[in-house]
Amino acid sequence: MNEYELNSIVEMKKPHACGEKQFKVIRLGADIRIKCEGCGRSVMIPRQDFNKKLKKVIQK
Ligand SMILES: [Zn+2]
Repeated sequence: MNEYELNSIVEMKKPHACGEKQFKVIRLGADIRIKCEGCGRSVMIPRQDFNKKLKKVIQK
């Protein structure tokens, strides 16, 4: 199971625009905000979309 929590490092199926695939979870709610580990920009996505796009949890 892919279990994540606040500050988890996750790998997404699609890389960010900068090429980085790892993101940090910085907000958990109905929407999830993740911060790119490569360029530091953050994106907000609905939890359902996040669960679909999540590849694996790297670090809890
Ligand atoms: Zn990036």
